[in-house]
Amino acid sequence: MTSTIGSTVLGYPRIGPNRELKRALENYWASRISEAELRNIARDLRIDTWRSLRQAGLDSVPGNTFSFYDHVLDTAVTFGAVPRRYADLGLSPLDTYFAMARGVESTPPLELTKWFDTNYHYLVPEIGPDTRFFLADHGVLEQVREADELGIPVRPVLVGPVTFLLLSKPDSEAAPGFRPLDTVDELVDAYAELLRELARAGVEWVQLDEPAFAADRTEAELAALREAYRSLGSLAERPKLFVAGYFGDLGEALEILSAAPVEAVGVDFVAGDPGLDSLAALPGLRDKTLVAGLVDGRNVWRTDLDRALTTAATLLGLAGEVAVSSSCSLLHVPYDVEAESSLDPQVASWLAFARQKVHEVVVLGRALREGRDAVAEELAAARRVVTDRVNAERVRDEQVRRRLAGLRPRDTRRADYDVRREAQQEALRLPPLPTTTIGSFPQTADVRRTRAALRRGGIDHATYTSRMRAEIERVVRLQEELGLDVLVHGEPERNDMVQYFAEHLAGFADTEHGWVQSYGSRCVRPPILFGDVSRPEPITVEWAAYAASLTDRPVKGMLTGPVTILAWSFVRDDQPLADTAKQVALAIRDEIADLEAAGLGVIQVDEPALRELLPLRAHRHKEYLDWAVEAFRLATSGARASTQVHTHLCYSEFGDVIDAIAALDADVTSIEAARSRMEVLGDLEAAGFARGVGPGVYDIHSPRVPEVAEIVELLRAALASVPPSRLWVNPDCGLKTRGYAEVEPALRNLVAAATEVRRTLG
Ligand code: GLN
Ligand code: ZN
Repeated sequence: MTSTIGSTVLGYPRIGPNRELKRALENYWASRISEAELRNIARDLRIDTWRSLRQAGLDSVPGNTFSFYDHVLDTAVTFGAVPRRYADLGLSPLDTYFAMARGVESTPPLELTKWFDTNYHYLVPEIGPDTRFFLADHGVLEQVREADELGIPVRPVLVGPVTFLLLSKPDSEAAPGFRPLDTVDELVDAYAELLRELARAGVEWVQLDEPAFAADRTEAELAALREAYRSLGSLAERPKLFVAGYFGDLGEALEILSAAPVEAVGVDFVAGDPGLDSLAALPGLRDKTLVAGLVDGRNVWRTDLDRALTTAATLLGLAGEVAVSSSCSLLHVPYDVEAESSLDPQVASWLAFARQKVHEVVVLGRALREGRDAVAEELAAARRVVTDRVNAERVRDEQVRRRLAGLRPRDTRRADYDVRREAQQEALRLPPLPTTTIGSFPQTADVRRTRAALRRGGIDHATYTSRMRAEIERVVRLQEELGLDVLVHGEPERNDMVQYFAEHLAGFADTEHGWVQSYGSRCVRPPILFGDVSRPEPITVEWAAYAASLTDRPVKGMLTGPVTILAWSFVRDDQPLADTAKQVALAIRDEIADLEAAGLGVIQVDEPALRELLPLRAHRHKEYLDWAVEAFRLATSGARASTQVHTHLCYSEFGDVIDAIAALDADVTSIEAARSRMEVLGDLEAAGFARGVGPGVYDIHSPRVPEVAEIVELLRAALASVPPSRLWVNPDCGLKTRGYAEVEPALRNLVAAATEVRRTLG
């Protein structure tokens, strides 16, 4: 057993190389397999992971990287933070856990939210003054024993106590002013209990993750970190502590951790290189292990090993010992490039998924210990990849580059809003409070089958087109019959709003097995953006134009915006994201021109991910929002004054992005608002927003059909902030996950409510 960390990864994918866990979970939830069967599958997955990590040559193997649903939920359950409404259901421990994750008939689940700036979602723990922390669940210890039986010592990985509380929210019993962090002392005691048990079980190292400190933190929060690790570090009986911060520069927290009585500190050199000077100023590091996150845990490119080694070499004098790792958990990348059989071989040769990244870490570890010569071949191979990518013809498109270089300020400005509004009113002749939808209609089994049949070659293009046209016609007729004012084609041809565009743009590749967990059993397969982006031919025009040909009412063309396309893809790391965004924007711009030419007078460019990419540190917000807004404007500013540009944002907490939303300069913006009872409209107007706005009048995430009266009431509430000339009426998101049984009556009620409110306007 090695006593050092040497080479390691901070975590590993857990859904299974072939999504075994996803299937097992869904089978268990549908009562098709028993709890014992589910547990067996889970254990096999853990064993496979440990064995492969050990065989790959990692010096330290992460332990409980497995989770049945989410690692934050696991932490809550481990320490007894189970809200009473779930405990009172009287279910088995596993079903109580799943009730917190997914809800049961009577009790909705915990809130789900994004894990920092990734696309992973965690369940938000609820903490109150009555929460009693104790070592409630022994899963962590059981997994240590399980690994021991295989002869593989593991390093348990847990969310650290301070990050855990910073990610939590006050429960419903908490008095105003209560913060979950108020309970940190009690939680630290419970962690201490676990550490003692782990030490007794022979565990040598434990990893505690504190990524919350990659974001701005108050003095009180930093003090909590200092106290927590002073107290855990001083325990008489404990394993060695490795505290990992990642997703950005830890700033002051790094000073605190390097002075704390812990044995190792992890630094993310990919997302937050603190720089040599700051590290050199930390004397506390000299007797610690610095775990250098040199292999990008969030993106799919092979590591420039020479560069990583150079960084590692400069660290050698600064810390007692230097270990190498992934920059964060590998949870955020797919399992194995070698599973891909249809990827272009050249592009595939540039990629490293989780398995390949483990190998890179092992190579770096050996180079540090035995010298570069020991891994000369691996280093040479990595070097070849670097040059091959730089010189690859498919990466650089001179035409795209010339076009970007020639952009002028007027390419991101439209005519004045007043001019546009008049031209649009003239062209569209819409009533006040116009009704519309966000784009997609229910994706029926039939629609999915048709797309799958085309993919597998079961039907030819002509058959596919005629079936899709039939679907579009059905959706158009339904909208006419319902009396909606601005229609959509329904998006039946789209599997996913980003993947669909990626499949039709040059510069993107897509994988067959590149699944990444989004939450629980939900996985996504992000496209890989590897080169300059261009649009070989129109993408959506044939479908939108067909819909428009069927009706006299305006039809809204549907596009995905540049920021969202980047946010839900693996992006290239060889140029600034802002430049990549502009390239995507130009492709969207051309699509808009073609939609206009085909007669579409309303075009929506969805940016549900605008807020997702917001940097964790406030001082970096402006730079991001500037380029994000610029990319949207570049995409949309070619539109004529008479063309009405819509955008859709999937959230209602504007806060940090409120000015950016106004700066997008869309004619109409639809947002989520039903759950906040339209309150967000007041904030929007107070910030000076003076364009069309469509606050969602019902929550499409629930199957519930809203009543006319309740929509009327919401619209009246909205009219308190927004004049009738600018108010739109729509659901709060696309309808693709719903069934017609709910969608039809819901939209019927929506139109009835708009009609009623219009009438009272006189
Ligand atoms: N137009 C998309 C749809 O309706 C928007 C989806 C989204 O907001 N995520 O499905
Ligand atoms: Zn949405």
